[in-house]
Order: sequence, then structure tokens, then C-alpha cells
Amino acid sequence: MHFEIVTIFPELFGPFRSTGILGKAVDRGTVRLEVFDLRDWADNKWRQVDDEPYGGGAGMVLQATPALAAVRELESRAVDKPRTVMLTPRGRVFDQAVARELAALDHVIVLCGRYEGFDERIAHILKPDEVSIGDFVLGGGEVAAMVLVEAVARLIEGVVGDPDSVTDDSFTEGLLDHPCYTRPPEVEGHEVPDILRSGHHEAIRRWRLERAVEATVTRRPDLVNDNWDVYSEEVRLMVRRFGGGPRRNRHSTPSE
Ligand code: SAM
Repeated sequence: MHFEIVTIFPELFGPFRSTGILGKAVDRGTVRLEVFDLRDWADNKWRQVDDEPYGGGAGMVLQATPALAAVRELESRAVDKPRTVMLTPRGRVFDQAVARELAALDHVIVLCGRYEGFDERIAHILKPDEVSIGDFVLGGGEVAAMVLVEAVARLIEGVVGDPDSVTDDSFTEGLLDHPCYTRPPEVEGHEVPDILRSGHHEAIRRWRLERAVEATVTRRPDLVNDNWDVYSEEVRLMVRRFGGGPRRNRHSTPSE
């Protein structure tokens, strides 16, 4: 998997690309993560890539020409056809399904905005995949790019040592994760559930699944609604036992 990040703050990615699981994946070559300075495509000696908004108003706007030149040069160097992701609060909202979709690709170019955002013509001309990491506004796309890269990279085979730790994660089967415990067995009067120390694998599997279903029904009933069709019969029975189940329509109340 090859990520190419285009940003005016490439230095922000230094420790990110060399630390932890992602750092190891980059060292091994499982993930290729390159970071480019948008200013390298500036068309002036001051390396300026922003200007005042037409129509007036606060803030600066990232100019179209450098971003278009950057993407076109990266595309021309590529052996494949990369997907260009533009990070913007108006994009489709990033979630585990989008992460899975991107993880199936070989090559993604990520455009990080700053200031008031991008000149609209970048979107008109490139028709990028516009992605938001949530309904809030960051100062720039760099942290959003890190969120995207980290979530996508851990889905790529060979990045996380034990594949079970990915398949057990929240959202993978439309459920939140079950609670986890480690030593010591007792902390300030709170003990590890006996079943987890029983050595009974099937009972542990079932307990964990029940806790995952309970957490999902109580904390994220919207996930139950969205994933009902993919749940196994075992999960559906547990959902019903915890008082959950799909809503009939967007306006129905739990009592309907
Ligand atoms: N004026 C823009 C708006 O209201 O939609 C916000 C611009 S924001 C200050 C600057 C840049 O940060 C954006 O161009 C985008 O790249 C990035 N950004 C901010 N919030 C984001 C989010 N929720 N998801 C993805 N990128 C975001």
C-alpha cells in the first residue's frame, strides 16, 4: 500500500511515520508512506500556495494551481491509477467501512487542506474522493490524514502482527469490542470476571460476544440498526435479549 501525503506541513509526519506498528510496516516496506510539501509546486519564488478569498472575508484559500500540479505529477510517476482523497469537513464521513474500502487499494494520494480550505476548482477538476473524519473542524488536514492512514494501514495484511487483533476490533462485525482485562487480577476491589480465568474457550468466546453485543445495544443502537442484516442468528438473539433490535424507520421510537 502506497500513501502519498501532500501538505504544507510535512514535518508533522516525521515521528508518525517512524513510530510503533506503522513505523515497523514502513521499515518492512509493507506500507510506503511519502510526504510532499505542497510549496514545492508553488508557481512563485516565495513558495506561496495560498491567497485571499474572492468576494472578501476572513482567512486565506489554498490555490488550485499548486495542488493540481502536485497531484498530476504524483499521478504521472505512478505505475497504477491512484485514488486522490481530499480531506474536507464536507466529505463523506470516514468510518471502518471507508477504511476497508481504501485498504483494498494499492495507492492513495491524500491532500491536506489548511486555512479556509481549498479553491473549489480543485474538486471540480480532480473530482477527488472527498473525506471528512467527523463533524468538527480541525485547523488542517494533517491530523485527519494520520487518522486515515493509521486506520487503513492496520487493515493491510502483515501490518498488525496478530490478524485476530484486527478481526476482533470494534466495528469489524458491526459490533463494539468486548471489555479487556490484564494483570493484576484485582484492582481496588474490582476483580477480573471469573470466566476469563476459567480456561473454558467456548464459554469465554460466548461471554465476550455477549459483552460486545451489550455494549453495542446500550452505547450505539445505530450500529445495531445498520448491521442487523449481517449479524448471525446468535448475535441477533443476544441483541433481542439486551432489549435491542432494528428500528423500523428513522422516526420510530423504541416503544414502537
Ligand atoms: N472552512 C472550512 C469549512 O468550514 O469546511 C474548514 C477549513 S479547515 C480550518 C482547514 C482544513 O482542515 C480543511 O481544508 C481540511 O483539509 C482540514 N479539515 C478540517 N476539519 C476536517 C475534518 N473534519 N475532516 C477532514 N479534514 C478536515
